[in-house]
Amino acid sequence: MVMTRRSFIESALAMAAAAHASLGSSSGSSGREVLQALPYSAAQLTGGPFAQQYNAIHAHYLSLSNDRLLKVYRQRAGLPAPGEDMGGWYDLDGFVPGHSLGQYISGLARIGACTGDMACTQKARTLVRGFAETLGPRNQSILRPESNQWICYTLDKHFVGLIDAATLASDSSAPELLNRVLAGAEPLLPARVHDRIGKKDPPYDEPFVMPENLFLAAELTGNQRFHELAVRYLLDRDLFDPLARGDDPFPGQHAYSHVIALSSGAGAYLTLGDAKYREAIANAFKLLTTTQQFASGGWGPNETFITPHRGELFESLATTVDHFETPCGSYAATKLARYLLQTATPRSTVHADNLERVLFNAILAVRFPDSDGDYPYYSTYSPAAQKVFYKSKWPCCSGTLVQTVADYPLNIGLVASDGFCVTLYTPSRVRFTRDQTEIQIEQQTAFPAEDHVTLVLNLSSPSTFALYLRLPEWLARPASLKVNGVAVPLTASRGSFAPLLRRWKSGDRIELTLPQDFRTEAIDDLHPKTVALLRGPVQYVAIESSAQPVNGGRRLPGSFRQIAPQTYVASDAGRDVVLVPLYAVTNESYTSYFDKG
Ligand SMILES: [Zn+2]
Repeated sequence: MVMTRRSFIESALAMAAAAHASLGSSSGSSGREVLQALPYSAAQLTGGPFAQQYNAIHAHYLSLSNDRLLKVYRQRAGLPAPGEDMGGWYDLDGFVPGHSLGQYISGLARIGACTGDMACTQKARTLVRGFAETLGPRNQSILRPESNQWICYTLDKHFVGLIDAATLASDSSAPELLNRVLAGAEPLLPARVHDRIGKKDPPYDEPFVMPENLFLAAELTGNQRFHELAVRYLLDRDLFDPLARGDDPFPGQHAYSHVIALSSGAGAYLTLGDAKYREAIANAFKLLTTTQQFASGGWGPNETFITPHRGELFESLATTVDHFETPCGSYAATKLARYLLQTATPRSTVHADNLERVLFNAILAVRFPDSDGDYPYYSTYSPAAQKVFYKSKWPCCSGTLVQTVADYPLNIGLVASDGFCVTLYTPSRVRFTRDQTEIQIEQQTAFPAEDHVTLVLNLSSPSTFALYLRLPEWLARPASLKVNGVAVPLTASRGSFAPLLRRWKSGDRIELTLPQDFRTEAIDDLHPKTVALLRGPVQYVAIESSAQPVNGGRRLPGSFRQIAPQTYVASDAGRDVVLVPLYAVTNESYTSYFDKG
């Protein structure tokens, strides 16, 4: 069996053991993974808003036509190419022909591994076989420099599709295909890494997004060439070195590509062990969340990082409707948060809290795609905004949408050397093994509509381990806890993980209450009176009665009353203002920021 990081993790879980409840006190498989991600097969969503979107995305991507997805590849190879053109970015004359095929394969393989749906797994394998048939004598498939100025960008997606097909869909052809794809691409690759200059100006392409998957491909195939290229394409001078020094390289840069590149920094830390990369991505997280971020967890109006402390986030509300490239940006942000959780003992819940913020208010809040290549792309935080599709069909975000949602189960929690760390509260079931004991933790909850979460344990035999419960920073009042009906005092405070170390047995019930209340967050440091409204992790917006913004902006209601779950009403100038979660809005106009007066 090929030892991938994922299988490495699974075997490391079986070996993990510790006596004391101190989160991340012992190191994991590589010594650098303090907490370990669950395998896809060991985590499932069982209800609630994330499961609802996950199931719909599962169905949507499973229904895509294989012939249409492969058409442009077959045309390039001179093979019969049945099916309709895809349109938009994807066709021969599109912006990046065939760019997202690898991401669809990746998403399908991940969902198949999580749900056990063999149709999904089989579709991933069928698409890999179809792709392999188009590689051609030079193994270059669709990568033609005369017509594709995004070779590295497209290649990275081929890599992730093949890696996930191999590790999650048991596609035995995929490792050798990785070697062939690399051999075909090598003559087309740049001699050294270069940053992306602007959004649309040359030099095109993003070699610096590739190292994460190059490191994984090296581990999977044993082909050292992948490793050498991973090291070559680390964007040290322009990104990791300044971040590690504590400088801010973000202002003016293209937003998504530089945040997804942080996953390559995580890969560099895990593979090479150079602490510079851990320092860099930790500092990047701080900069993103303290200087670049909207309340939703989004960043990068017009896909560009702002210059902090100039009020530019506020100004963007009036100058653009393209506030956050949401599926791509959420993919980058959720991966960054998980890598940070995995690679150091969490001293606070800051990474997990922001993960929750992005999940509820960014990716969960996107418009659902149609059957004709229309996908969500930008989220809008201007007054009287609407959720719209991107102007071109099959954009980048059609690839990251399925990958981000497919990864939802990985956000539930992480395995610690001495137990399990709960990072997301949502109806779910996770399984892991320690000391030959099979442990299942089931979450039953209507959170965030309600404040209560119940964890029910199912063990093959009684076992002593620690459960670390996230006490979010947003708690309105102290959390409370019962184990098997008996109140247990919580010494941990909000913003930390509460350890519960005891000998657990099947049927044990943990009841956690996480009091939520409304609070506001200013859009930036120069505009403290322009605020978003949040309750717990969820951003609330006002439903507008027309597509026209209210003159002078919408005032923050002084008080409101609940009329239904997660629905509140306030009176403003004689009209009822109705407040709902941003993620609950579908077709109506809504306002995200309020004037505090
Ligand atoms: Zn995108």
